[in-house]
Amino acid sequence: MVSESEPVRVPGITRGILVTGGAGFLGSHLCDRLIAGGHEVLCADNLHTGRKGNVAHLLPHPRFEFLRHDVTFPLYVEVDSIYNLACPASPVHYQHDPVQTTKTSVHGAINMLGLAKRLGARIFQASTSEVYGDPDCKRQAEDYLGRVNPIGPRACYDEGKRCAETLFFDYHRQHGLEIKVARLFNTYGPRMHPADGRVVSNFIVQALTGQPLTLYGDGLQTRSFCYVDDMIEGCLLLMASDAALTGPVNLGNPQECSMLELAVLVRELTGTKGPLSFKPLPTDDPRQRCPDIRVAREQLDWAPATPLAAGLEKTIVYFDQLLSAHGEGADGD
Ligand code: NAD
Ligand code: UDP
Repeated sequence: MVSESEPVRVPGITRGILVTGGAGFLGSHLCDRLIAGGHEVLCADNLHTGRKGNVAHLLPHPRFEFLRHDVTFPLYVEVDSIYNLACPASPVHYQHDPVQTTKTSVHGAINMLGLAKRLGARIFQASTSEVYGDPDCKRQAEDYLGRVNPIGPRACYDEGKRCAETLFFDYHRQHGLEIKVARLFNTYGPRMHPADGRVVSNFIVQALTGQPLTLYGDGLQTRSFCYVDDMIEGCLLLMASDAALTGPVNLGNPQECSMLELAVLVRELTGTKGPLSFKPLPTDDPRQRCPDIRVAREQLDWAPATPLAAGLEKTIVYFDQLLSAHGEGADGD
């Protein structure tokens, strides 16, 4: 359905939901939930870090459509609402082609906001805790302005996402667009790419293949890990909330843990006895990260329900099956 002309609106006909980045880790779970909820879903993805395999089970579904598209180029489709998730999320992936990462965040936001403006569609932005940079406060609330290095190796992602937030709020103030900006904290679960370098996938794959678990730095830096189903629930609730709630809203697990604690837990759950291997800490790696989720609790009645050990167990089962099916070098395609 590609057309540059003004759409013909038929009252009462729903035109569906666009999910950019829908073949990625989070996007594919979101597509699942939207299809299960009875919606028409258009999944647009350039398969840069996502995989068609993540949505292969949806391809035959009559209410699901996959479109190979790069969001740095304009998109002319007719939908009722948009979830903008397109962007590589793992540091290894987003630093691989940093210029493209910034373009995806910024040009992608401009293109999707332009589409939303033309259609009068509500639009959701998957922003990130990275907008807080390397925070100097224990818990990060939405009014914390952040401590981001604008010229470091993480800046393409952090500043790209910050600029995307700026664009969302300017389109809201200037054009009255209905926006929903969520700041997602670290999320894990089935369909993470086994080779994307994120800590949860690294530790589990290493443990299952008998390799040492790689800890960067002293391993005392913290993150807060949210199970994917909880995260998707939060995103759906925010999208469905009253128009006055624009965000930003933090979505994440307020249970903080160090990377050393995570490594110990993954070893326990997989039963591996392999050693830990300490590696240099990457530049600008945040020392701590923990969401203040009071806004989400109060405005959305949302909080994560899955304890870390329970979510890790499900993720371990996923990677175990993936590795058995594809061998140790599995890329999950
Ligand atoms: P992912 O890499 O699995 O998914 C991103 C998807 O976007 C992939 O399918 C990729 O192919 C697609 N994509 C990338 N560039 C594109 C482009 N130019 N045009 C079209 N598609 C493109 O990552 P994810 O973990 O699923 O993250 C999804 C979104 O959530 C991202 O915007 C990310 O910044 C945000 N987020 C994720 C986390 C997390 O922990 N997973 C945390 C904070 C924010
Ligand atoms: N990390 C680690 N070992 C790994 C991969 C990552 O110790 O094999 C650390 C990394 O340095 C960071 C934390 O785990 O402190 C989370 O890294 P990830 O890439 O998952 O996400 P982000 O840094 O974007 O939060």
